[in-house]
Amino acid sequence: MPGVKYSGRLSDAELAAVLPPAERLAQGPVAVIECVQSIPCNPCEKACPFGAITVGDDITALPALDRAKCKGCGLCISRCPGLAIFVVDASGDEATIMLPYEYLPLPAAGDVVDALDRSGKPAGTARVLKVNTAAGLEGTAVVTLAVPRKLADIVRNFRPRGRDAIYICRCNEVSEAEIRQAVREGARTVAAVKLATRAGMGLCQGRTCRRLVSRIIAEETGQHPAEVLPATARPPVRTLPLGTLAGGEDDE
Ligand code: SF4
Ligand code: SF4
Repeated sequence: MPGVKYSGRLSDAELAAVLPPAERLAQGPVAVIECVQSIPCNPCEKACPFGAITVGDDITALPALDRAKCKGCGLCISRCPGLAIFVVDASGDEATIMLPYEYLPLPAAGDVVDALDRSGKPAGTARVLKVNTAAGLEGTAVVTLAVPRKLADIVRNFRPRGRDAIYICRCNEVSEAEIRQAVREGARTVAAVKLATRAGMGLCQGRTCRRLVSRIIAEETGQHPAEVLPATARPPVRTLPLGTLAGGEDDE
């Protein structure tokens, strides 16, 4: 949107609109849908077997969650291409957070990991309770973490400990360490890192890794993530309904 400066993180106002009230959190697991941009997307709506998520006929509308209907099953998490859905349960002595995880290698139940906040900064220590790979190894895994209750609204990612290779670009198997090294050797933009490491040149064309690369550049250089120059966007730049494509040449 012209004039809007995106930071890659939700603003306080956006967070206030999507976070469940303390009373609902205390009742048991509930989805937290941190999807705040009007993009044409709605797999979450169909993923929920309880009809708790509504996008509606306007596919660019933001998803609306009926928290009374949500059972906290987490089925919607791996279906969200934006990795925007989490399930938080703050009803016990410690909180649990189910989150989408697309890095390899996957953690194992029992691992102690570094919990990260929405900007990727360490927020504390977490324990991996469960790793669900029902979506298949090419899909999005759902990892359940146990964290102190006060971190229920803060932790949205984690970093394994004691592992050498965390892959940022899964298509070309480019690790976090390789990207950090490229930045330390002078690559200051997503495009420069792409040329130096091939991160973002794979089949997905950087759908997942370009944001992660931006974040690493920002961490290494002390910039705000929004100040890091993005890579050149390639077509398609406009979405089309499948019906239009199916109409072939005769359909304008
Ligand atoms: S967590 Fe389960 S019940 Fe809640 S919105 Fe997602 S799919 Fe529906
Ligand atoms: S699937 Fe994810 S990105 Fe798409 S509308 Fe639903 S929450 Fe937003």
